[in-house]
Amino acid sequence: MSTIAVTGAASGIGAAVCQHLEAAGHTLIRVDLRNADVNADLSSAKGRKAAVEQTLAACDNRLDAVVACAGVGVTAPSVGLIIGVNYFGVTEYLEGLETALANSGNGKAVIIGSVAGSHMVAQPHPMTAAMLEGDEARSRQIAEELGDPAAAYAASKYAVTVFGRRKSVAWGKQGMRLNVIAPGAVETPLHQASKEDARFGEAVKNFVAPMGRAGVPDEIADGVDFLLSDQSAFVNGSVLFIDGGMDAMVRAHTF
Ligand code: NAD
Repeated sequence: MSTIAVTGAASGIGAAVCQHLEAAGHTLIRVDLRNADVNADLSSAKGRKAAVEQTLAACDNRLDAVVACAGVGVTAPSVGLIIGVNYFGVTEYLEGLETALANSGNGKAVIIGSVAGSHMVAQPHPMTAAMLEGDEARSRQIAEELGDPAAAYAASKYAVTVFGRRKSVAWGKQGMRLNVIAPGAVETPLHQASKEDARFGEAVKNFVAPMGRAGVPDEIADGVDFLLSDQSAFVNGSVLFIDGGMDAMVRAHTF
């Protein structure tokens, strides 16, 4: 059985992922702001460093997989936080664990992105470029100047998906795999907060997948199970949309 670190483990998709993996007999290292094995704030460089150090100590420098679920939505207290958690909270945590993942012989990772990443920022954008260059201060500054949480959220998810795909090329050569899941709307506290938000609530409620409903966290955890299993042994660098057809609906003429 494997040792797997899951960020955002205390709620929503991350909690469902933990339930599935624990039921399958894996050993988990739960990471979250609180109520976890590793309590750390992934929005700051200091918190990420602490999260990496504590995770390495917990797995004895040998880790089979990481599932990066921690994220904040459009109702986050600041747009800079969206960049800090959704992009750098994923990339710096994963990179800090790369050696431990390699030590397991065939380390794997799944990043939870979003359909928003492909819908809203398909064009080059200075905010995305700054993230991909690893310039947190600059990307946060652009995000704060724009002051648009939906754009910052989409940009963070676009950038983290591009990061994952780039990384999968290097990892593939070492027998490691990295894939991204792009969920559509999923019934979690994050989604509920978006529906109740005075600025975005109506748009969020009206943005419904062709299947006529939001997903449930278990449906995303099913995708994680697959991407960590031997059934997906040749799947690397993929973006798996689990969205009831939302991406196909919005991008009906592009691929
Ligand atoms: P959620 O709010 O239920 O869970 C998010 C978890 O991340 C929480 O436990 C929270 O404490 C943790 N977290 C937030 N900031 C953190 C920080 N600074 N440091 C450490 N942990 C932190 O939300 P969810 O819907 O389960 O979201 C999980 C992931 O799925 C996120 O990346 C989100 O962007 C993505 N996503 C969600 C939806 C949706 O509709 N729910 C859709 C697409 C993508």
